[in-house]
Amino acid sequence: MRWPRITTVVLLLTTVSIHTSLAQDKLAAKTVKAVRFGKLWDGKGKVLTNAIVVIDGGKIRTITTDASSIPAGAETIDLSKYTGLPGLIDVHTHMTFYTDETPGVPLLKQLANPVPAVEVFLARKGAMHTLEAGVTTVRDLGADQYMDIAMRDLINRGEMIGPRMFVCGYGLYITNTPYKPGLNPPAGGIADGVPEVLRAVRQQIAAGADVIKMYGSTGTDDDITGFETYTFEEMKAAVDTAHQFSKKIAIHSYGPDGARDAVRAGADSIEHATDMDDATIREMAKRGTFYVPTIDHNRYYIDNGDKIGYAPGYKERLQAFIPRNLETARKAHKAGVKFAMGSDAIYTMFGENTRELGWFVKAGMTPEQALRTATTNAAEVLGKEKELGAVAPGYLADLVAIEGDPLADINVVLNNVKWVMKDGAVVVDRRGSPAR
Ligand SMILES: [Zn+2]
Repeated sequence: MRWPRITTVVLLLTTVSIHTSLAQDKLAAKTVKAVRFGKLWDGKGKVLTNAIVVIDGGKIRTITTDASSIPAGAETIDLSKYTGLPGLIDVHTHMTFYTDETPGVPLLKQLANPVPAVEVFLARKGAMHTLEAGVTTVRDLGADQYMDIAMRDLINRGEMIGPRMFVCGYGLYITNTPYKPGLNPPAGGIADGVPEVLRAVRQQIAAGADVIKMYGSTGTDDDITGFETYTFEEMKAAVDTAHQFSKKIAIHSYGPDGARDAVRAGADSIEHATDMDDATIREMAKRGTFYVPTIDHNRYYIDNGDKIGYAPGYKERLQAFIPRNLETARKAHKAGVKFAMGSDAIYTMFGENTRELGWFVKAGMTPEQALRTATTNAAEVLGKEKELGAVAPGYLADLVAIEGDPLADINVVLNNVKWVMKDGAVVVDRRGSPAR
């Protein structure tokens, strides 16, 4: 049979060239680099003019303004036209729900029955768009069939280019399967009652999850209902089990009731949460619970709902939800609640991850406070505040170059990412290209 043989030869050649380039990448990451920025915001509140970041392998060795201290033989990268920032972190994505745009086919239909291997392969495009937005790390909050674990591991091995992923496997949710004739095994992640919640949390940890996700209310996509689904006792059981294994837990709640019980149960972050009452907001500030309001994802749904395939009427519903979401964020910010940037990116939203920062400024943050939600604060959400979210000695060498001054205008972060480094390797170089 000739045809398979030819295929084999082609595959072998491809494999060889991929291995060569990966080996070269690894070699490149071992060299010492000196990256010069016109201005550098280090994530911890310092701004340096004419900064030089010296990188050794995948880590930052020093930050200096003295050109004579660049080690001999270092590869110099001149970004003196730009402002440097730490690699950004998006704490709420769904990387494996990536869909390309097949013309004429609603995005929801394209995702109806994904074969995991195909879906993970396609998701590399969304991963690349995410890097292009300056996001070098994500917390991925919900995937099917452990595609998130596969993707995280492929990226960590250098076999796929994408942001560093911290993943949750299946998010926990209550029974919600409509009747269908025949045998219907429950989908992964379904758990009702304390014993099943314990089992489901332990299952995600055993599968290799970095973090636990629980859906504490209804509401997703064009559905903005926010009925509490889990009881306080079920949430408490999930939180305690996650913490017992040193894992953090994110609890989704569109409405105020799920958020109130999630905060009291000790969740580390509350996702979406609109219309939270003052007592819950005060409790979050007191406990240090992070708020990830994901305001921009409804804007994305409004802009793309027809393409996605939502039933008519979604625009009005979602449009009414956004001001309530923003108002809750404004109240929470005023009350001293800690925020982290989460886009809830899904479908074709990858690359728009940082638009959330624009909403944060509308909610009353300074551009610098907004930037912290995607750097130091987000690193704290991951429990990685000594490795990620700042440009400092010993931190992972994740850097972004922006055209313009992000401390004066947050929009330059959304539109003018020019260059991105992850783990000491350049992953995006758009110098010379127009604004995105
Ligand atoms: Zn989500």
